[in-house]
Amino acid sequence: MTDHHTDAAGLYARHRAVLPEWLSLLYDRPIELTHGEGRHVWDSDGNRYLDFFGGILTTMTAHALPEVTKAVAEQAGRIIHTSTLYLSRPMVELAERIAALSGIPDARVFFTTSGTEANDAALLLSTAYRRSNQILAMRNSYHGRSFSAVGITGNQSWSPTSLSPLQTLWVHGGVRSRGPFAHLSDAQYIEACVADLEDVLQQTSGGVAALIAEPVQGVGGFTAPPDGLYAAFREVLAERGILWISDEVQTGWGRTGDHFWGWQAHAASGPPDLLTFAKGIGNGMSIGGVVARAEVMNCLSANSISTFGGSPVTMAAGLANLTHLLEHDLQGNARRVGGLLIERLRAVCAGLDVVREVRGRGLMIGIELVDPGTDEPSPRAAAAVTEAARERGLLIGKGGLNGAALRIAPPLSLTVAEAEEGADLLADALQEAQKRLAGAAIG
Ligand code: PMP
Repeated sequence: MTDHHTDAAGLYARHRAVLPEWLSLLYDRPIELTHGEGRHVWDSDGNRYLDFFGGILTTMTAHALPEVTKAVAEQAGRIIHTSTLYLSRPMVELAERIAALSGIPDARVFFTTSGTEANDAALLLSTAYRRSNQILAMRNSYHGRSFSAVGITGNQSWSPTSLSPLQTLWVHGGVRSRGPFAHLSDAQYIEACVADLEDVLQQTSGGVAALIAEPVQGVGGFTAPPDGLYAAFREVLAERGILWISDEVQTGWGRTGDHFWGWQAHAASGPPDLLTFAKGIGNGMSIGGVVARAEVMNCLSANSISTFGGSPVTMAAGLANLTHLLEHDLQGNARRVGGLLIERLRAVCAGLDVVREVRGRGLMIGIELVDPGTDEPSPRAAAAVTEAARERGLLIGKGGLNGAALRIAPPLSLTVAEAEEGADLLADALQEAQKRLAGAAIG
């Protein structure tokens, strides 16, 4: 493949001159994606890539899905006018479908334009409903970039200083592959995390509003607690009237294969009180939102409005995308093809010193990397593999507690042949990176 980066290099210089430094870019020489089709994208230098990240899970079904393109064009051709002051047929229709799918009884849906704003709305609702500014959040979590969302984001490398007046209490349960709980069985781990939660609650004065958690930590490196952890948490919370907010921004819409929502792996105590969503539902169009029981959703004491939340063009995209997802059973595809991909990745990684663990559910797969010969998390290895994969025509993501995990989350329509091709490309990239790291250590 070509590797000139002439156009992209100029754009990168302009990007750096005008956009914030903290807006992180992937790759030493960032790429500009110009078009996509199915599971593939092309950059401005004409390189074609197999897309195993979907712009952080935003391309949920496929790139340039014809039904979505058509729905957007038709709606844009009719009317783009937006604001919640007027009735909107696409907004009501998508809200009805999401309410029915959510599992939450007597559900109401509020649309936003991002996951951050969805979590902000969930914070506004739960703190108002409970008359408390205390929020329980998970260590290593990510919930967004706003003033309040960074205050409940446990992964400190994504949590700039915020003077948010929320009082956040940090709970164990996100990552156990390292640290004091690493040696425990699933049942012992759940017990230890519940004891930790009870301990935190005992030390608080007054009522706590809510616990917010990602069923599988996304930015955190696709780490999932054992099934049932949140059900066990729920019992402790419910006794005290504390709400459970499930942040489904990455785990929703069948991505985890076995379940439509991540919370369903913890279903024993029923659905969450609030569920937030975003990313994939619009297949790239900006849709986020919060679902809550009517009693919680309607607790605000004044009127509100959203100018862009639920805009007709994005809702049309969401309806077409959701219809495609359900009609083609892409959740089932995520389970089947994701299962094969995880197996294949485990096989190709088995002999590699740089890989500590391949983990995942459905098409949400994380690979934890270490410096060969040690057990230390290796952000350098993750960076080297990501670069080597790009050079071979494969886009993947990075993340994790120390930035040492690879993140794989292709569009849910991934075929078996593409899964195999991607696994082979990644195996090659891992070997190359391992060699480069060994060379760097010697040199
Ligand atoms: N919650 C989770 C779990 C996320 O992964 C993200 C985005 N990475 C957000 C919230 C924030 O979403 P957005 O970037 O759309 O604001």
